[in-house]
Amino acid sequence: MRLSLPSFFRPQRAGANPSPPLGYPLFPAPRMAVLGCEVQEAPGVYCLPEWSAADVAQIRPLALAASFSDYARLAALIRTGALALPELQYPLLVFSLPGEGPLTHEQHDEMWAWFGLPCFEQIRDADGRLLAQECEARDGFHLTAQARPGDLGGRLVHTLCECGQVSPRVRIAPAQALLARA
Ligand SMILES: [Zn+2]
Repeated sequence: MRLSLPSFFRPQRAGANPSPPLGYPLFPAPRMAVLGCEVQEAPGVYCLPEWSAADVAQIRPLALAASFSDYARLAALIRTGALALPELQYPLLVFSLPGEGPLTHEQHDEMWAWFGLPCFEQIRDADGRLLAQECEARDGFHLTAQARPGDLGGRLVHTLCECGQVSPRVRIAPAQALLARA
């Protein structure tokens, strides 16, 4: 079995781009596996840019962060009995690329059927940088300082969000995401 945990403790190389923060809605984040993406070091956060069922099981994650396609892969592994994640109990983060999110109603239904947990979406660029994220109010995506609103499409909203954050956010319709995919 490939032991993946120590890579998490590897010191950042001098001059290397620091990994982007995870931005999990709870702090500190519960023990979690981050699949397909390298994020900033934090206690209990284990990054698996490449992963196998054994890697994920070894972490015994309480939460996950991954793309929708990785969740579909996990769900298939769980369905066939190749993977069990009995301790999963915190909201799941879903990574989307610009133009890909938000999840459609059908995808939300699938996530619920697979894991029975709420999920929050994040839009990250190909380098994993966080551009925008959903909050508990689920009324658009809050833009980070690194995002240029035009990159994400949708409608820019400057009103105070129910979650209390004042950062501007974009409302992106799922239909638009489907068009972007086509
Ligand atoms: Zn908000």
